[in-house]
Amino acid sequence: KVRVRFAPSPTGALHLGGVRTALYDYLFAKNQGGEFVLRIEDTDTARYVEGAEDYIMNSLEWCGIIPDESPKVGGPYAPYRQSERRDIYDRYKEEILKTDYAYLAFDTPEELDAIRKDFEARGDVFAYNHQTRQQLRNSISLSSKEVQKLLDENVPYVVRFKMPIDRTLNLQDIIRGNFSVNTNTLDDKVLIKNDGMPTYHFANVVDDFEMKISHVIRGEEWLPSMPLHVLLYEAMSWEAPEFAHLSLILKQTISGKDFIRNINNFSISFSNAFINKNKEYSFVEVNTLMLSYLQNFFDKSTLEKNENDDNLNSLIKEFLSSLFSGKLSKRDGDIFGFPVFPLDFKDPQTGIISKGYKECGYFPEAFINMMALLGWTPANDREILTIDEMIAEFDLNKVHKAGARFDPQKAKWFNQEYLKLKSNEEVLQLFKDLDEVKSLNLSDDKLLQIVSLMKERNATFVVDIYNDGKFFFEAPTSYDEKATKKAWNETTSAVLKDFSTKLKTSEFDSETLKNTIHHFAEEHSIGMGKVMMPLRLALVGELKGPDVPDIMNIIGKEETLARIEKAIS
Ligand code: GLU
Repeated sequence: KVRVRFAPSPTGALHLGGVRTALYDYLFAKNQGGEFVLRIEDTDTARYVEGAEDYIMNSLEWCGIIPDESPKVGGPYAPYRQSERRDIYDRYKEEILKTDYAYLAFDTPEELDAIRKDFEARGDVFAYNHQTRQQLRNSISLSSKEVQKLLDENVPYVVRFKMPIDRTLNLQDIIRGNFSVNTNTLDDKVLIKNDGMPTYHFANVVDDFEMKISHVIRGEEWLPSMPLHVLLYEAMSWEAPEFAHLSLILKQTISGKDFIRNINNFSISFSNAFINKNKEYSFVEVNTLMLSYLQNFFDKSTLEKNENDDNLNSLIKEFLSSLFSGKLSKRDGDIFGFPVFPLDFKDPQTGIISKGYKECGYFPEAFINMMALLGWTPANDREILTIDEMIAEFDLNKVHKAGARFDPQKAKWFNQEYLKLKSNEEVLQLFKDLDEVKSLNLSDDKLLQIVSLMKERNATFVVDIYNDGKFFFEAPTSYDEKATKKAWNETTSAVLKDFSTKLKTSEFDSETLKNTIHHFAEEHSIGMGKVMMPLRLALVGELKGPDVPDIMNIIGKEETLARIEKAIS
């Protein structure tokens, strides 16, 4: 039975990468006739953000990614919040300690800091691993008597994973293919912290086993954890699930693979520096954060001017120092220039609100469609798919290995397409919900006409129908200068004056109006444009908008005559 979980940590808003992971988890599970589980990984209390869990659930709901099991709806493997599963982790802690894959470590943070400094002084990087564990204070280096004494004295300890020595692990990832890792390159990660709480690695693997997860589909930033996770399954004599790691979402304006490689290398070393200043961030989180910041900070022209790695490196350094000095946080909200969250998110620390797709006027179907195509191409390059169509076609084996380029313009294009696909009546309902429209006091009939005329005219959001169609609701207050030059000459006023006399007796439906203009032009032996253009200018203030007779029909006779009168006076 296929069971897939999305396992976010409530450390902030759900960003685009998280939404796409959840979406692919969901599409795969449903395609396979399986279940989609939402599990909240909240064991790291230091990074817990108030409201983040609700934010995640509301976002998924808005997107239509509905979990079969979750903290909200429960399920056969409840509880689905890690903070409520402590007794389960306690039980497995005892079990893993019985194997040869775990040991107790008593080193204090101060001791470890001192050792780290020693290493640094020698130009080395400290790792708690097969080479150093013998010299540290743990149940491998100490005698069992000494260990018992420390335990009796209630000296705090952590449980560490005992990484096997010199083993080559052959790993398989559905998206990335096969790869090998030698265990000597890995360190002895903490499994249980000194307060008895499990770390991400331990809780995550225990829960995936307990919840019978068959496929772990998650972001690429977790790929480095895969060897440890696979070994944890081995340690517990459990069968490991299948793994699929999704590539990162990248901003469109990045030039070339070299830059990505650069950023990847740099974010790792720089995030170390960052961690020392902000202990509450995890390496992975900083790494991911750093990547998105950097990719959005440098625009294409900067990058192209700095092809040379050294220049780029110094640019990055400069950027990071501005990050540390706090300069950037002030403009955090608008650094991206496009929404990165599904819903509005108010940072509880800074109070800054980051705009969400929903509040910017995106339809959830358009948003989800756009997200699904960031890393996956349906058959025949089809672009517009309902969620059911995506479920039917989704194939993990066809998910791209390379990072997906995110293009904010393309996001708009999707919304435009979905707007066109909606019936006029549907759009009318959404249009009437806009605050601007509520206060207008226009009949549904009139509004429906406006909607049907404007919907097809490049509107991206429902609100564009209002903004681009302002002339339906109010007379122009000025006339565009260039347009006036083009549409108006010394005879125009006289022509329009004549024309309005004719209009007074004309019926006001679009068809009749079209004929009226036509006949008028013929009678006066002038081109249609000589009437149509100044008329448009008088009604709209610019040379744009739908057909002039349609505009006249909607605003009505009285208003049309008033606008002409105003233009010629
Ligand atoms: N809690 C992890 C996160 O926040 C989950 C990673 C995983 O899916 O294993 O992304």
